[in-house]
Amino acid sequence: MPQPATTPAPKKDRSSAAKTVNWTDYRDHIATADQSGQRKWMYPRKVNGRFFRLRTWFSSLLLLIMFAGPFITINGNPLLMLNIPECKFVVLGQIFWPQDMILFAIALLLFAVGIIVFTTAFGRLWCGWACPQTVMMEMVFRKIEYAIEGDAPSQRALNASPWTSEKISKKALKHAIFFALSFVVGNVLLSYIIGWRELYHIVTDPPLAHLTGLGFMAAFSLLFYGIFARFREQACTFVCPYGRLQSLLLDENSIVVAYDYKRGEKRGPLRRAQKFGERRFAGLGDCVSCNQCVSVCPTGIDIRNGTQMECVHCTACMDACDTVMGKVGSPRGLIRYASLNGIERHQPLRFTPRLAGYSVILGVLAAVLALMLFTRSDVEATVLRAPGSMFQLMPDGHYSNLYTVRVLNKTSRELSVELRLENVSGTLSVMGAGNLIVPPQKSIETSVLIELEPAAMKSGTTQLAIGVYSGGKKVETLKTAFIGPRN
Ligand code: SF4
Ligand code: SF4
Repeated sequence: MPQPATTPAPKKDRSSAAKTVNWTDYRDHIATADQSGQRKWMYPRKVNGRFFRLRTWFSSLLLLIMFAGPFITINGNPLLMLNIPECKFVVLGQIFWPQDMILFAIALLLFAVGIIVFTTAFGRLWCGWACPQTVMMEMVFRKIEYAIEGDAPSQRALNASPWTSEKISKKALKHAIFFALSFVVGNVLLSYIIGWRELYHIVTDPPLAHLTGLGFMAAFSLLFYGIFARFREQACTFVCPYGRLQSLLLDENSIVVAYDYKRGEKRGPLRRAQKFGERRFAGLGDCVSCNQCVSVCPTGIDIRNGTQMECVHCTACMDACDTVMGKVGSPRGLIRYASLNGIERHQPLRFTPRLAGYSVILGVLAAVLALMLFTRSDVEATVLRAPGSMFQLMPDGHYSNLYTVRVLNKTSRELSVELRLENVSGTLSVMGAGNLIVPPQKSIETSVLIELEPAAMKSGTTQLAIGVYSGGKKVETLKTAFIGPRN
């Protein structure tokens, strides 16, 4: 019997699925990779100008706070400590425990909504002015690099030159300083996690006593060295999720670093002897195509193409262009903080319905957080019936149940805690002690015996309320069940 002819399935043309990159279109590729996919090393030129000076002052203040932070205490507690291994967090001197998870969740929500509101209104102002990555990279590491290797053209020439003794000594010096600084930054980060006292012990105790701590010290130092010596702007472009949020959060009213294309276009070089005012008659705008804004950009983009994900709002292009405008006799601000509507319609920052909606959510969350912080008690207690225990009939005819009570002291001082039976008459005895003394920032666990007379009991289960008192003030009411015989 003849076999039916089978038609071979058409082969997929895989090559047609891949899109050909248009290297002349900035949207089609990133500025820091070449056509072979290799990293293009950025050589941003030195910049100077009013924004750079302001950022230098502001960064100095931030660096001071960052390096002094672990040593600043409020009521004996650090300013900020995020002790993940021990699940203990200190913010502005207030200690938070895993029991404060709801508080933390609301604080995180508030932080997220705050970011949304801020970014919607002011774009990536945070990135350019306050992000530790930008501050450390542009204000510390980059300046050291300029001091040792010179401005961008010298750096480029040095990297292309053979390994002479001068090049070796410059590179060795730069990387030694980079690593030393990374070690300091790594230790500062570590002291925000475990506290500077613990860090001090790691440094001064025998190494074998703190192998994990030393491991983290080495890992953080290498991490920061890798970021600031090699990875650099790639951290903002590929790792940080905040830049990616831009496309979701920015709208035509958001203030961003923007090129005023209405004023700048049509761009063209300033011809020799051409008066700047004559350009308009020639159909040209204020941009003289000098490319200074591109040459100072640490992420290698051209802001004249519009807002881009890579832009960290470092203001370098604003300063560079202002300098050029000053030289050619045109008002500064061709690249400036502006919204799209500001450029197209000369509209100032508007409180849009979207912004209003976010602000309402932000306000509600802030109010809830403030209320929870205000009513948060210094003591947290839990009560559980002792596992495997039964009710006991005592010689005086009363019944007893055994419980385990756990009390957490969230403060930095010792607290005396008293437990009182509140809704039924009976006796409550803390085994081995009258009052509970809870050391600062510690929790204790103790056994508690409760005795009730039969008249005060219900058949089977009697609900109990136990008041937790500290300093004569009730801080919490614990609910539990008292088990007795069924009538
Ligand atoms: S620095 Fe200003 S004038 Fe020069 S290319 Fe950039 S936008 Fe145009
Ligand atoms: S475009 Fe301007 S503001 Fe954005 S990263 Fe480059 S230099 Fe900084």
